[in-house]
Amino acid sequence: MTLRVRQWRKRQRELDQLLRYSDSDGEQEGIKNVPSVPGTPSSCNSDNVPGTPDRVMSDNALETSDDFDTDVDYWSTDLEQEPNEAEVTSFEDELRQWALEYKVTHRALNGLLSILRKQGHLLPVDCRTLLATPQHNTTEPKCGGQYKYYGLEKGICRYLSQMESNDVHLSVNVDGIPLFRSSGVQFWPILVKCGHFDPFIVAMFSGQSKPNPLENYLKDFVSEYKHLKDNGIVFKGQTYTVNIDALICDAPARAFLKCIKGHTAYESCERCLVRGTCVERRIVFSEQVSTSRTDDGFSRVEYSNHQTGISPFIAAGIPCVSSFVLDYMHIVCLGVVRRLLIYLTRGPKVCRLSVESH
Ligand SMILES: [Zn+2]
Repeated sequence: MTLRVRQWRKRQRELDQLLRYSDSDGEQEGIKNVPSVPGTPSSCNSDNVPGTPDRVMSDNALETSDDFDTDVDYWSTDLEQEPNEAEVTSFEDELRQWALEYKVTHRALNGLLSILRKQGHLLPVDCRTLLATPQHNTTEPKCGGQYKYYGLEKGICRYLSQMESNDVHLSVNVDGIPLFRSSGVQFWPILVKCGHFDPFIVAMFSGQSKPNPLENYLKDFVSEYKHLKDNGIVFKGQTYTVNIDALICDAPARAFLKCIKGHTAYESCERCLVRGTCVERRIVFSEQVSTSRTDDGFSRVEYSNHQTGISPFIAAGIPCVSSFVLDYMHIVCLGVVRRLLIYLTRGPKVCRLSVESH
């Protein structure tokens, strides 16, 4: 019994110390409820513990203090674990965002994940799990290849809560992307940019050549746009009007989408009725003034020497002359300026710069 009393006193001292420590700590960190952790008997309240020896000396009291010790341990362990779990989640999210922002290759990311896992971080083994890469993508055979429609409304809705006005202005880009040098596989995505936000994919086509017929390829996009243009998008009780401001494509893609002749044809100018002449196997537009093409005229397919068919965009009410912007990079920088530089450095003697003036 004496041994037991000694043991009890020792535990009592430890307990008092612990309580003082917990109280001061708890007050600082807002965990004043330490003793009333679920499962801890209410008698363990700090007011009651330094009670009468008679009461505390009972077996129950000893058990209580034992329980309390255990619970404090449990509580402190819990406290340590909680931030860790939160840290892991946010760490994983941050890592995912970082990998996406800096376009880290899957190989590099797998290497990094392996190192971090060795260091004890709870992370997936494969980067595809981290990036939540979809494993299956259902496509349908269409236009001579595989096609997938993601949707215009879904993409716009992602940004609507951050819109500053009730009008949604869209910029559209369609272009062919060769995937490999060794094969003719190419992607034809329909990309849409909504205001100042990043572009999103509305549809994707993959095939050995450009999608054919064009009408089928654009069918989903054009019909959804037409619906949104007529009815608007309702998001959280607010109606937004939708309008395509510009279609931004390079010359071959413009000719494909507008169903017009290529940029080397006699009547290839997309803005006016000028007819080019052939000079040294090149088409030259020497007229300074010419009648402009109009959206209405284009919609009525009046330009028979320019248009090769009826563009699906006409049916959607998109003004095909004014909406298709002429791209500065291909026409001016890589077109006229590049040609001038070639003539000045390697052209015929009549226009080439001399060595001194280089
Ligand atoms: Zn012109």
